[in-house]
Amino acid sequence: MSQACCPNPESTPTAVESCCELHPPIACGPTTCPACGALGRPVKRLTLGALLTPAARARIPRQEEFCFCRTATCDVVYFRPGEALFRQADLSVDVGLKEPHQPSAPVCYCFGWTPQKIRAEIEATDKSTVIEQIKAQVKAGNCYCEVTNPQGSCCLGNVAKAVQEAIASFSKKDQ
Ligand SMILES: [Zn+2]
Repeated sequence: MSQACCPNPESTPTAVESCCELHPPIACGPTTCPACGALGRPVKRLTLGALLTPAARARIPRQEEFCFCRTATCDVVYFRPGEALFRQADLSVDVGLKEPHQPSAPVCYCFGWTPQKIRAEIEATDKSTVIEQIKAQVKAGNCYCEVTNPQGSCCLGNVAKAVQEAIASFSKKDQ
């Protein structure tokens, strides 16, 4: 059973945003992206192996941990100190964090939630159950962020932000 992300989602009810902080930067701590200068987040080699294109996969350097760049406007996805290694075109999936205005780019890779789907539920039912649904799946051991999500860790922080944005744009339209 995968307990890799959000080990106790029920015990941290206020921690939707801080969920991903359970995985503090290790090797990436002081390491910044060579292209944009933002602090990286650590991802395991397994994540790169799962999500890079076959051509890019053959170029993964022999080391266990890499850094992920979260900056939306930066094309670099994975780097190591001083070296940009893989860009968006090297991945076989869209990097949702780098496509913030693309409503069909995934925010939750394990269960296929996109801003579009989140918004559709809010429009249809006036509420969002996506966080509860994901938490239930995490609890059931069905969360595989390590091999589905380019950031290699829990998506709940990103999903919470997408829900807030969907609610904000929906209520704006209402007025
Ligand atoms: Zn960057």
